[in-house]
Amino acid sequence: AAEDKSFKYVVLGGGVSAGYAARQFAKEGVKPGELAIISKEAVAPYERPALSKAYLFPESPARLPGFHTCVGSGGERLLPEWYTEKGIDLILETEIVKADLASKSLTSAAGATIKYDSLIIATGSTVIRLSDFGVQGADAKNIFYLREVDDADKLYEAIKGKKGGKAVIVGGGYIGLELGAVLKLNDLDVTMVYPEPWCMPRLFTSGIAAFYEGYYKNKGIQIIKGTVATGFDSNENGEVKAVKLKDGRVLDADIVVVGVGGKPLVSLFKGQVEEAKGGIKTDASFKTDVPNVYAVGDVATFPMKLYNELRRVEHVDHARKSAEQAVKALKASEEGKTIDEYDYLPYFYSRAFNLSWQFYGDNVGDTVLFGDNDPTSSDPKFGTYWIKDGKVVGVFLENGTPEENKAIAKVARLQPPVENVDQLAKEGLTFASKF
Ligand code: FAD
Repeated sequence: AAEDKSFKYVVLGGGVSAGYAARQFAKEGVKPGELAIISKEAVAPYERPALSKAYLFPESPARLPGFHTCVGSGGERLLPEWYTEKGIDLILETEIVKADLASKSLTSAAGATIKYDSLIIATGSTVIRLSDFGVQGADAKNIFYLREVDDADKLYEAIKGKKGGKAVIVGGGYIGLELGAVLKLNDLDVTMVYPEPWCMPRLFTSGIAAFYEGYYKNKGIQIIKGTVATGFDSNENGEVKAVKLKDGRVLDADIVVVGVGGKPLVSLFKGQVEEAKGGIKTDASFKTDVPNVYAVGDVATFPMKLYNELRRVEHVDHARKSAEQAVKALKASEEGKTIDEYDYLPYFYSRAFNLSWQFYGDNVGDTVLFGDNDPTSSDPKFGTYWIKDGKVVGVFLENGTPEENKAIAKVARLQPPVENVDQLAKEGLTFASKF
């Protein structure tokens, strides 16, 4: 039967934030039995970005325990044994179906009650499904979404079972781009479909996107833009066979992967905690308006000091740092102390094929493209500056060295003024390396 338990600290969610929170608790000092991490997943916290990259490689794919947190940022790999040694309870395969913040208690699907003194909400995001919009046939077999290790295992099996088959990727965001690449590496015939005029439109300019689309085409990936999937046909076994597009085209498909975005998992707390911009509203220590309740990672809408604005960030670097900040603040508050407010510089990255880009800062204002963005070049290297109110506020770089990436991060943080935009385009990376 389900067992009732009680802890001083509970982290709800067992993803990236949870792993970095656990490490921070251990650093700050936590006694055996004080901390529990509750996850509906069956495994200890891991670096989620691996799932759309090395996890699906045709040769020696990454597998757990290889990528448990905190290896993704060059830190110690926390194996399940580490939690045992520290006396941290990993309560796995346990979905919380009810949260009562007033009585400080959580209820699992099996009916167990878990009580806490302080709670860190780290439930992350869930994928948006085509069935949410009533797309016809969207529940056919071999239509995949990717969020958790279980999803990746199912996709991996399908890839192995459909060698030489046809794959359709629905969505042109970073999940779509990474999966398109890795499915191609697995010798599938890949077609990508998205409604926007170019891929990753929320970050990429047309100039940046032109490079990636050209590169993908040269790899043999077909790209269909400006239309959406409106339905799916399946065979007598219920397996997907074709994707029907709004423009009337029909694409054969043995595997479909959908990456059309995510939504933060906040429904457990509806009406109990203040929300903002789709997430749980926090202060610069990730404290919510409910005493002793914090929210971190994808679900937190926090004050971004640099831009003087409330923002929600769905990227791994912020998941790590917000978790550390929340634990530091929580521990400090026990001693009546406060800590420096979170001062986050947005950092996103992605990798696919031999490509690797980084972005720092804010993608607002005018843009200046620099470098060699010819997709047929043997060693392309290019980037983009975003300029607002005469200052550089964001920088994107493909194929940067570690030093160059450090330099662009510094520029995005410092926001140096720009006198001459043509000059900036000519200088390119040299401009960034001056700071
Ligand atoms: P998650 O890591 O999603 O963890 C949430 C955890 O909470 C999960 O274990 C979930 O099962 C659990 N949970 C949720 N609800 C409940 C409940 N009711 N009961 C129990 N447990 C629950 N970002 C980048 O910057 N670069 C990348 O290259 C990149 N690649 C990505 C690739 C993929 C495939 C995915 C899915 C995401 C990627 N991201 C990337 C985004 C990044 O992984 C997330 O921003 C990050 O994982 C957020 O951390 P989190 O702790 O908030 O949530």
